[in-house]
Amino acid sequence: MSPGEFVVLRMSIFGGGLLLFLLLELAAPYRRPSVSKFKRWFINLGMTVFNSLVLRLIYSGAVLGVSAYVTANQIGLLQLIPLPYWARLVITVVFLDLILWVWHLLNHVAPLLWRFHRVHHTDLNMDVSTATRFHLGELAISESIKLGLVFFLGADLLGVLIFESSLVLAAQFQHSSLKAPAWLERVWWWLFVPPSMHRIHHSVVIRERNSNYGTILSIWDRFLGTLVKEVNQDHIKIGVGGHFDEKKLGLGRLLIMPFTRYVR
Ligand SMILES: [Zn+2]
Repeated sequence: MSPGEFVVLRMSIFGGGLLLFLLLELAAPYRRPSVSKFKRWFINLGMTVFNSLVLRLIYSGAVLGVSAYVTANQIGLLQLIPLPYWARLVITVVFLDLILWVWHLLNHVAPLLWRFHRVHHTDLNMDVSTATRFHLGELAISESIKLGLVFFLGADLLGVLIFESSLVLAAQFQHSSLKAPAWLERVWWWLFVPPSMHRIHHSVVIRERNSNYGTILSIWDRFLGTLVKEVNQDHIKIGVGGHFDEKKLGLGRLLIMPFTRYVR
């Protein structure tokens, strides 16, 4: 696969998911927006485009290069164990999701990382556009870690592609303001992360925010003791306590936020 094809494929999955969850959340929202959706979309998609132009193109090429190199040279943990190809794909996705859980937890407990990650949490409402509202600094570090993991695992391109596609679609679903049917929420909780679970993670209440770190699988929170379920969904206030003024959450402010006053 050429870098061009890789970028087009990733953009199609992102664009398809964005459109799908936008239509669903417009048709069946779980609550009315408290601030203008249009203004938030301008900011969130503005950040997404900016990050993509600066970062994604470089990292897409790097991921392609590293995965081609490790598979051609039989480097990495997965090459040491004789396993069927499908098992390698599953291990790649599950292992990368576990490390993402650890990385997300660190983003909440390490003050320096929280400076960057809080940009994501300052969104005053949640919808599908929140899924890609991240500070460039956070993405630069996490993409570098992912490159290292692809090398360490010896993950091939299809495994990385399945992981990234699942990640994008899972993040879009759980951030969306869609009121998912109760039965789907219930079934989804067992293995995956439904919107109600991730909404608790975006609460202004710090005890609730420091829980439910999972992105694709909910099993890490369940087994590692960070799962919080019993929260009244109607009472969740979304955002960061110290960042409640919409006028101070424009694109420019968000870009310099990690370097300004520390807010828990
Ligand atoms: Zn978080």
